[in-house]
Amino acid sequence: MKIGILSLQGAFIEHAKILDRLGVENFEIRQRKDVEQQFDGLILPGGESTVMGKLLQELELFIPLQEKIQHGMPVFGTCAGLILLSKEIDNDTHRYFATMDICAKRNAYGRQLGSFYIQAPFGKLGDIPMTFIRAPYIKSLGKDCEILATVDNKIVAARQQKQLVTAFHPELDEDNRVHQYFLSMI
Ligand code: GLN
Repeated sequence: MKIGILSLQGAFIEHAKILDRLGVENFEIRQRKDVEQQFDGLILPGGESTVMGKLLQELELFIPLQEKIQHGMPVFGTCAGLILLSKEIDNDTHRYFATMDICAKRNAYGRQLGSFYIQAPFGKLGDIPMTFIRAPYIKSLGKDCEILATVDNKIVAARQQKQLVTAFHPELDEDNRVHQYFLSMI
């Protein structure tokens, strides 16, 4: 199994470290030729969605990655990665891959709560550590989506078929279970 990690900006190294720890082959996606190889899953990390969106276009990565996702490649978006996958963005006119039937609210916790840490239940995994950094949450979602976690009545993790999103950063904590969950989808 081989996972491509979008590595233009943001917290991509942390995802690679978790996959290394799990013994899963992974590589950085930085330019067009990187996506020409065979791979089995894609990670879209946290960072700044507007910057990533711009770089994806400039580097001609946008269309090939969108096509892969549309054709069913398993994808895991964390934080800004969630925004990249959202069909709707409540407080932004940009749209990116727009492959997942969710409406995200960007920077949804306001300044005071810009960053916080909590432990909360995730699907059947029990409590997992959740680090939020200027995070979005999911305001609403389509009927094909499954809610995997909520914090304060806000949806912070969801899945639609082979697409998994978390508003928090599982790659920043010493817990591999959310990544293992993603790998089990492949
Ligand atoms: N606030 C960022 C955005 O809107 C996301 C923050 C993150 O990925 N930690 O893209």
